Amino acid sequence: MAKRISVKGVVQGVGFRPFIYGLATRLNLHGWVCNTSGGVELLVQGQNSNVDHFIRSIRAEAPSLARFAEVTVFDEPANIEYSGFDIRHSTRIMGAYQPLVPDISICPDCERDLFNPKDRRYLYPFISCPNCGPRFTVIKDIPYDRANTTMADFPMCDRCHAEYRDPLNKRFHTQLITCPDCGPFVELRETHSLFPTSDPRISSIELHVSAILKARRLLREGYIVAIKGLGGFYLACDASNPYTVAGLRDRKGRTDQPFAVMAADVTAIASVCDIQKEEHLLLTSHEKPIVLLTRRKQTGSLTYKVSELVAPNLNTLGVMLPYTPLNHLLLNQTDPVLAREPVPPILVMTSGNFIEEPIATHNNDALERLSPLADAFLLHNRDIHIRLDDSIVRADHGDIICLQRSRGYAPYPIELPFEVKPTLALGGARKNTFCLARDYYAFLSQHIGDMEKTETHESFERGVQHFSYIFRIEPEIIARDLHTDYFTTEYARHAQLEVHSAAIQHHHAHIASCMADNSLSDRQLIGLSFDGHGYGTDGAIWGGELLLASYADFERFAHLEYLPLPDAEAALRSPWRIAVGYADALGVDIDHLPFLQNIDKQVVRIARQQTIKGLNTPVTSSVGCLFEAVASLLGIRNDVTYEGQAVAEMEVLSKAFISIAKSYPYAVDETESEIIIRLKELLSAMIGDVRANASVGMTGARFYKTVAEIAIDICKRARARTNLNEVALSGDAWQNQILLDLVREGLRQEEFIVYFHKHVPTNDGGLALGQAVVANFQTSNHATSGESEGNLLRS
Ligand SMILES: [Zn+2]
Ligand SMILES: [Zn+2]
Repeated sequence: MAKRISVKGVVQGVGFRPFIYGLATRLNLHGWVCNTSGGVELLVQGQNSNVDHFIRSIRAEAPSLARFAEVTVFDEPANIEYSGFDIRHSTRIMGAYQPLVPDISICPDCERDLFNPKDRRYLYPFISCPNCGPRFTVIKDIPYDRANTTMADFPMCDRCHAEYRDPLNKRFHTQLITCPDCGPFVELRETHSLFPTSDPRISSIELHVSAILKARRLLREGYIVAIKGLGGFYLACDASNPYTVAGLRDRKGRTDQPFAVMAADVTAIASVCDIQKEEHLLLTSHEKPIVLLTRRKQTGSLTYKVSELVAPNLNTLGVMLPYTPLNHLLLNQTDPVLAREPVPPILVMTSGNFIEEPIATHNNDALERLSPLADAFLLHNRDIHIRLDDSIVRADHGDIICLQRSRGYAPYPIELPFEVKPTLALGGARKNTFCLARDYYAFLSQHIGDMEKTETHESFERGVQHFSYIFRIEPEIIARDLHTDYFTTEYARHAQLEVHSAAIQHHHAHIASCMADNSLSDRQLIGLSFDGHGYGTDGAIWGGELLLASYADFERFAHLEYLPLPDAEAALRSPWRIAVGYADALGVDIDHLPFLQNIDKQVVRIARQQTIKGLNTPVTSSVGCLFEAVASLLGIRNDVTYEGQAVAEMEVLSKAFISIAKSYPYAVDETESEIIIRLKELLSAMIGDVRANASVGMTGARFYKTVAEIAIDICKRARARTNLNEVALSGDAWQNQILLDLVREGLRQEEFIVYFHKHVPTNDGGLALGQAVVANFQTSNHATSGESEGNLLRS
């Protein structure tokens, strides 16, 4: 008999066609398989039992990276006799689309060949196979074929072509197959800071393995080398060398924000960090994200060292393992050729950019922008089609918390339990990601960055264009934040589209994002959005909210009381301003507290007057602001050089005291219409502890306990009034592991069902997903009720 089979899902770029070929030939079936822009189509012909076996095996034996949305089998009239099994040329189907596979780190097979002196790709940094290699960063169009990637510029040599066509070869049908004879190459260029020559910028060029050896030597000698990665440039240096790390901080303008490191292997990591079993799995997974690990106390006995300057005042370190062949060649400690130039086993690997600018991707751009930062460049001539940062994750009691979702994860879609119209959601101002959605898929973009910087806008616009094109989405709905100052608002206004525009409240979007992330169907639940900043419907800055939320709608049930945020922009960098504003507004005496000693009295006086007059002083219910204020009151830090710094340092100090700390008192104003948490008693009691010289860690821990108690308290009050028993947690504040653990555990003890993010960040990196979903539910509601909502954009 003959069957025609249509397979949809993540089935291209995962070695699916070679797998089908192998399966069909093994079962003695004839026919063909081909990629289309909508998935994979195939036809098999042969004995009935073998065809049945084949169909069962498609799901059961598929390559591990394949994800099926649909496998449909049709009867096929047996009027053509096929004489073998072919992989046919791919076909385009108008409008058809499919999910794309993310970049996949080098597989163990390829790693073995890379270091096998007998292999013709020995030490060749572009080795790949059907199961590994770049995908998302090199794909220009679907279907996934070499011609649609940045490897199209490199015609295969005869030997590569023979391997590509040989079903018995492990590189059979490898789209990115290449070798030293026909493929891209690396080169090393040194900047004038090393060896001045007539060329002001570049002095010498070294190619191939000698380039890698030279880079290893420079790294060992304490130089900073810009290295082209999968999705952009890194700046690399020896993580154990405090002078080099300090130099890198200086050049990059990044004072304290932690750097990530890349380690040669797990043993090297284990010498500087504790690794739990689940963290080991994350580190070695094919996504190879940056994993936040707890640092070991540095003692003389450690084999390797990481300078304190890599992650100042923190007890965690962001660590990743090599994920490309080139990474391996840089860090390998055993290969006899590479060992000629020993290299430090742990390297700082930070994004190749000045602070807050997008990471450089093109060679010329990198040479231009990074010359002041790097002593040398390790370049190659395979183009990066789309910019992609590293993903950052943390293990969470057997689950994974995604803090930045990029390489390895994006652009896998979030599968929705309901259908949506073609939608573009623009995301938030910080940690921006956007989301394009259609049918049952939400394609959340990789991390784009902070939209305050105009340099990021180009990245955003290019990304939106690429996603719309590659997933064939012409938005009918544009969703954006309620806040009208955002670049994204302007973007929505200028979109050359006749679409509905929906403005979505920040914390409603957070809760909807958590619901969609957990595949929840539409219903009302308790949404606990503890967060930094989000524009509220009343014009205030929200961020300590309990919303009774469904996808289409929300009601603000409880929040922290409004307190002044003096000089909001300056307060972002100087949490002491929030501390002073809060204390003054609550009538809590902070005179002579240690944290005020180091601030110019005149500056403090001006800030206080500003608050009294309400000049440039919005009010806020933000939990994030409360944390910042408390960290300052405790004397941890008056000014910050990166977002969340003071709170991260408070977490380090408080951790040890959590199990014994008791909460502070607080008051609740409960009326018919709303519940407001009053903070005067909390701050007074805490300041009492500060005056009594209680330990900072213990005071911080008591504060954590109090915030957790407030969270659980308001959930119970919401349940008492509404009978709702499900709680969704979303917002920046839940990145804080202490708070998350306390609240989640406390709610479970009270028999709530608690949802937390699974695939997307709880910070603003997950916002766009929520916006997309809310906008869809709002527009479909308005369609049935016939009311007009949102503006019809015509420009
Ligand atoms: Zn491989
Ligand atoms: Zn070749």
